[in-house]
Amino acid sequence: MATRPFALDPLFQSTKTVGGVGPRLTKLFEKIAGPMVADLLWHLPAGVIDRRYSPPLRDAQPDRVATLTLRIEEHIPPKRHGLPYRVKATDGTGWIDITFFNVKGDYLEQTMPVGDTRVVSGRLEFYSGYLQMPHPDYIVAETQRDQIPAIEPVYPLTAGLTQKVCLKIMRGAIARAPVLEEWLDPAHQAREGWQTWQQSLLAAHNPADEADLSPLTPARRRLAYDELLANQLTMALVRQNQKQLKGRALPGNNELFEKALAAFPFQLTHAQKQAVEEIRADMREPARMHRLLQGDVGSGKTAVAFLALVHAIGSGAQAAIMAPTEILARQHEHNISALAAKIGLKTVTLTGRDKGKSRKAILEQIANGDANIVIGTHALFQEDVIFNDLALAIIDEQHRFGVHQRLQLSEKGAAADMLVMTATPIPRTLTLTVYGDMDVSRLNEKPPGRQPIDTRLVSDERLGEVADALQRKLETGERIYWVCPLVEESEKLDLAAAEERFLHLQQHYGARVGLLHGRMKPADKDAVMEAFSQGLLDILVSTTVIEVGVDVPQATVMVIEHAERFGLAQLHQLRGRIGRGTGKSTCILLYSAKASEVARTRLATIRDSEDGFYISEQDLKLRGAGEMLGTRQSGLPEFRLAKAEFHGDLIATAYDDARLVIQRDPQMLSQRGMALRTLLYLFARDTAIKYLRSG
Ligand code: ADP
Ligand code: MG
Repeated sequence: MATRPFALDPLFQSTKTVGGVGPRLTKLFEKIAGPMVADLLWHLPAGVIDRRYSPPLRDAQPDRVATLTLRIEEHIPPKRHGLPYRVKATDGTGWIDITFFNVKGDYLEQTMPVGDTRVVSGRLEFYSGYLQMPHPDYIVAETQRDQIPAIEPVYPLTAGLTQKVCLKIMRGAIARAPVLEEWLDPAHQAREGWQTWQQSLLAAHNPADEADLSPLTPARRRLAYDELLANQLTMALVRQNQKQLKGRALPGNNELFEKALAAFPFQLTHAQKQAVEEIRADMREPARMHRLLQGDVGSGKTAVAFLALVHAIGSGAQAAIMAPTEILARQHEHNISALAAKIGLKTVTLTGRDKGKSRKAILEQIANGDANIVIGTHALFQEDVIFNDLALAIIDEQHRFGVHQRLQLSEKGAAADMLVMTATPIPRTLTLTVYGDMDVSRLNEKPPGRQPIDTRLVSDERLGEVADALQRKLETGERIYWVCPLVEESEKLDLAAAEERFLHLQQHYGARVGLLHGRMKPADKDAVMEAFSQGLLDILVSTTVIEVGVDVPQATVMVIEHAERFGLAQLHQLRGRIGRGTGKSTCILLYSAKASEVARTRLATIRDSEDGFYISEQDLKLRGAGEMLGTRQSGLPEFRLAKAEFHGDLIATAYDDARLVIQRDPQMLSQRGMALRTLLYLFARDTAIKYLRSG
């Protein structure tokens, strides 16, 4: 077993081990950075205090931080409660009051005895035309002047943590950063003009001015690169491991394939054809397929998936498709079993809802091979689900599962090819950070004949008008999705809002309104969805349950309440539920009259574009990568140093770098390879190292 190099040990201890950190601070640091000393290293300053301003008092400007050498003249305790304690001082050119609230004991007389000289540093203010320095950050004797840093980093804090304490602890943590063997390619490092890791870390934590806080400084770029390289190496190792796993060559069956093609009521788009060919080419190879099918909502991924299933079955094996939710699994069942039946294939569906006898019967068909296509949810990964001969596993709407589950899944060890489908329009730069371990096929065109969706921004003060307009839509038999706002912190509140809206719409329009939310029993959810799909309901009120995948082509109107609370990518996903048929669709984004100008500008992006990739790029620009998709379901790795909007160029470089490393030195045993192992440990990528022989 490979183990972490000793040099990193001081970093992989609890923050408790840093001098001055007790249980209370441990919690606070855990909140802002993490539990380990290493986590503190990645907690970079967000500001800088320059204490070099030392004017004579007669020239001193307010609202600046200054360091002053003063003679203490007089102590003036407050005359009544609520007034400050004042210490009068002078430098010979003017006067200043150093002020304190809530002073206890004789602490101030001790630290600033009348007649002595003190160096104080803090923010200057004018109060009733009089110069003041409230609560200085430093008060020291002249001989200790060097205790006051000329320039001081300011760290992001949390309630209960002061700048002074934070700074002290951070210094303690940073002092533990060891000198490490260089893992960068020397030519690359020279080209970028980067210092060593340790030097860069120190530089990033010791900004000389505001400019040094930029993500574009060499120090911060290097740290970002290190993080991205660790991420890409991990991906490359997973990929290498994946490729070494025994797969099987699946020849397919052309006759069956042609039949399947003919079963569609449409011609494949060029993009679909190409994706299908890439997938079939992979499947014919003996190596295991590990491919991502990325396509915007409505781009027709299901058809591609179906043809992949057919290829596997044409080779005499079974194939499975897994969806993240019951509803989506049922929907696949609906779409796929109809197609499958046309060409004589048998489909079964297994979800968490199947129990007892029926479950047993399904398991039997999976085990004896009667079922050609198996559709399901996570339930497919239960131990007692045994396939007769599974050759292909398709995972739909992958971002709901997250990267970790994907890794776990790929470690399941069946020799099956894997195809992951996602509708998350991740910007190109980020694709590599999430899917760098996979080959990618993209559906970059939509099926022909789609009408653009008419998207409108409407202030919620005009809700009444919207209701009238909907009345007219309902009279012409159109179906409506009504999405209620997402309150991140509380599912309960989501629910209350949705229920209230449901009752209200029901009263307003009569009985044909349904309600769908995450807390319903699966069977009830299906029933509502089915009723809406069949046209037994006109309006479907829901929380964001309908976000992914649901396909009811007759639904042509979507109203989204408090649209400003959603991420752009999420709004795009939601809107993708309409505009699926041939009818004209309308999406109404209701925003709170209180929404900011910025929020409205964001919404305009959605109004003006239906291109998921464009929208995600804009979202990225406006919000930053971490936030982009909402933390609940982004599946994006969390980068602490790398920022997609600044370090996009480094992502591609790290990707190439990592691939080359693994190509030349698959076990990372060369000198650089060993140094890179340290990098992986530094970023806690211990899982990746599992794939390597010990060095
Ligand atoms: P998604 O990529 O969002 O999963 P779907 O696979 O659900 O998209 O397809 C969306 C709709 O487009 C479905 O109703 C499907 O039947 C239809 N569709 C798919 N491919 C084509 C095509 N080549 N031509 C016309 N319609 C298509
Ligand atoms: Mg889909």
